[in-house]
Amino acid sequence: MDSPFRVQPPFGPELQDIVDYGHELLKVYGLCIGLIVAGSAVIKRSSVKAPNGVILGYLKYQMGKFEESRGTILFIFAYVGLSLIFCTYSVSHPVVLMFRLGLVATINLPLLYMLGTKRTILNWALGCSYEHVNTLHRWCGVLVVAMIAVHAAISLYYFRWQYLIRNRWSCMGIVSGICFALIGISSIPAFRSKCYELFYGIHLLGSLIAVVGVYLHYPIARPYAGAAGCVFLFDRLFRLLKDLYVVKCEISSAYADTALVKIKTKCPWKAGDHIYLTVWGCRTLESHPFTIASNKKNSDHMYLIVRARDGFSKDLYKLGNTTRMGIIHGPYGRTPKVNKLERIILIAGGSGVAFTYPLLQEYAGMDVKSLWIIRDRRCTEWLPEQIGDLWVTAEQGRPDITAILDEWTNNGHDNCLILACGPQALLTSMENHVAAYYSKGHCSVKFHKEKFDW
Ligand SMILES: Cc1cc2nc3c(=O)[nH]c(=O)nc-3n(C[C@H](O)[C@H](O)[C@H](O)COP(=O)(O)OP(=O)(O)OC[C@H]3O[C@@H](n4cnc5c(N)ncnc54)[C@H](O)[C@@H]3O)c2cc1C
Repeated sequence: MDSPFRVQPPFGPELQDIVDYGHELLKVYGLCIGLIVAGSAVIKRSSVKAPNGVILGYLKYQMGKFEESRGTILFIFAYVGLSLIFCTYSVSHPVVLMFRLGLVATINLPLLYMLGTKRTILNWALGCSYEHVNTLHRWCGVLVVAMIAVHAAISLYYFRWQYLIRNRWSCMGIVSGICFALIGISSIPAFRSKCYELFYGIHLLGSLIAVVGVYLHYPIARPYAGAAGCVFLFDRLFRLLKDLYVVKCEISSAYADTALVKIKTKCPWKAGDHIYLTVWGCRTLESHPFTIASNKKNSDHMYLIVRARDGFSKDLYKLGNTTRMGIIHGPYGRTPKVNKLERIILIAGGSGVAFTYPLLQEYAGMDVKSLWIIRDRRCTEWLPEQIGDLWVTAEQGRPDITAILDEWTNNGHDNCLILACGPQALLTSMENHVAAYYSKGHCSVKFHKEKFDW
């Protein structure tokens, strides 16, 4: 029989012992990942107070270029570092590294799938919505794809390809490797933003095929691939059975290339939630996220404020005043609980009012300060009623948002929850200003942002 190897590795039967040692070692890695996730959930859900404002301020500071806080970036570094240590610890040969990388990537699959799906136990445990863990999903994905790429490169160097394509286990590995490579390439930001639907299709199909491939590739991978597959199927089934609503959409056009959509639905949403919208005859196969700009307590209709941006939103705006059938799925999102907080501060920029307006109604009667920054006064026609505290930049110039926060939070001394939605620059300057309060030892202001992009 032909040798499976192109380049013979310098191992005899002792290779099995080395590989077994790696498997035992990686049980510790799996445990570490589990503990990190469980620890994060406990910290998030408990009212653990920050030990030190200076540290908290440092960690909460937004790194402008990355649009993420230092804390998140350090967490990602620590996670990648831990994974690399377990991949390389006591590795004496590239073939041993190949086994390690494959298994570390596999151990991460359940986490990767949980971070990337909408209905999972992880979101419930962390008390946050899927979009708030999307950054972690991306970095976990980068790590997994990079490890699989090196795993594949080493395999192709040592094994003969004629051997690899003749065996089911290796063919399955190749299939899942190709899927992960396609997912990785299509997730590059330039590709994703240009061809979002293609990126989404590759992600959906690729992640399903990849997990089946991994399951059949290597017996030790089965529990992890099986768990990831269950996460995927649960999410899809739950959303199919519980989250889909066929609706009638009354569409009208408004000022500043904006479409207003009015939907009567039984969907049980909360203030601050968003849904995904598909409109019949308007790029029917696409589905886009929009925040629900009405409060169910005050209105039996769901209102959406859709700014025309490019493909779908532009076509929706061009429909003018019409009624179309559509599908919504959701609702998704989670706004922090308001307990004995002294003051709620709502800040919206442009269509970000879709997030703050229902919250303003939700917290009626409480100590609420609200500001809506708009370019032109005519934007007010997006809402069914006039709301106070408008800042019209065409008339008043850019607001000094940090001065406004200082006034409304009493320089960070008061117990406040800031809920904000708008352009990234506005959110970053607010978040960094709150981080500066922490650095001065004033830790009673909480900040929650809703982003329209990720
Ligand atoms: C949670 C959330 C709430 C939002 N709420 C509102 C709102 O109330 N009003 C509003 O005007 N806009 C809102 N947006 C932004 C809106 O979804 C995008 O502007 C819209 O999808 C752009 O689609 P397009 O076809 O017009 O442009 P495209 O050129 O097709 O897309 C531009 C970019 O939009 C993003 N995008 C497109 N499709 C999706 C999708 N299915 N899921 C996630 N991102 C996508 C991608 O980053 C893409 O690169 C929200 C976005 C998110 C994530």
